[in-house]
Amino acid sequence: MTHHPRSLALAAAIAALALPALADSVNVYSSRHYDSDDALYQEFTKETGIDVNRIEAKADELIARLEAEGKNSPADVFITVDVGRMARAEQAGVLQPFSSDLIEARIPQHLRHPDNLWFGIAQRARIIFYARDRVEHPPVTYEALTDPEWKGRICIRSSSNVYNQSLLASLIEIHGEEAAKEWAAGIVANMARPPQGGDTDQLRGLVSGECDIAVANHYYFLRGFDGNVSGLSAGIENIGWVWPNQNGRGAHMNLTVAAQTRSSPNPEAATALLEFLTGDWAQQYFAGQTHEYPAVPGVGLDPGTARLGLFIPDSTTGTDAYSRNAARAQTIFNEVGWD
Ligand code: FE
Repeated sequence: MTHHPRSLALAAAIAALALPALADSVNVYSSRHYDSDDALYQEFTKETGIDVNRIEAKADELIARLEAEGKNSPADVFITVDVGRMARAEQAGVLQPFSSDLIEARIPQHLRHPDNLWFGIAQRARIIFYARDRVEHPPVTYEALTDPEWKGRICIRSSSNVYNQSLLASLIEIHGEEAAKEWAAGIVANMARPPQGGDTDQLRGLVSGECDIAVANHYYFLRGFDGNVSGLSAGIENIGWVWPNQNGRGAHMNLTVAAQTRSSPNPEAATALLEFLTGDWAQQYFAGQTHEYPAVPGVGLDPGTARLGLFIPDSTTGTDAYSRNAARAQTIFNEVGWD
């Protein structure tokens, strides 16, 4: 264990308060890869003296690694996007409940696992987009996407994508399995083309004229305003957006998710980092870098995200339903032939 001057000073201060000494470092496995996150972790180190070591890879690779390393894993914290992916870590048994009254107070209940196995640090909305010049009255609910009016007009990506799995998992929770299956079949019937590409490609379909309606996470659209996203930015003024189900439960929200790992060798440092991520500054910075919505209520938005205006998020469907219903969602996709 090495001590640089800052952590020695910190250790002395902590000893004076008769608190347990903090570890020098915390190890983060993250599937989120943005250079801008560096500044976030540097700020944490500046405030606490705790160094952050990050290993970045795809979520499934990190989960496999956590499983293989078992109780010898050096990881303290796991960060990924989409509750559906965090559910795989949950099922692999590589998480433990975080222990922090502060996190429970800061993060609304519907954005946390009921046993505190994970919590949201930022929110992403999966919403409806449309071509303004071809659609006068776009569908205003997820349910309305199955209306025969939209036959051959909807672009949405493949069912192997976790974003769609979580959306369908939410519909299973809200309407039951049979109705969710009917919905999925209705979407298949209305597809403009076999599912292909990522969310940006669905928006590109609106620009190219291949589709009139698209379903995508909100930030892919906002990136089109930031810079030159080929096939999107030049035609973005013709894309309108709908916040779905505003007269009902609200828009489907997913999460960038953080958790403490089961093996965590530096639990105090893990808690300190997780708590830091719920602070006002970190919330605004973290969400702002990716045009996500903060998980903590009342934290301001970056100007790019504020462009989409005010909306009602679905705060009645617990996000843990996305993990509970993930397997059933995949079965339904297979049954209805959603590629
Ligand atoms: Fe994404």
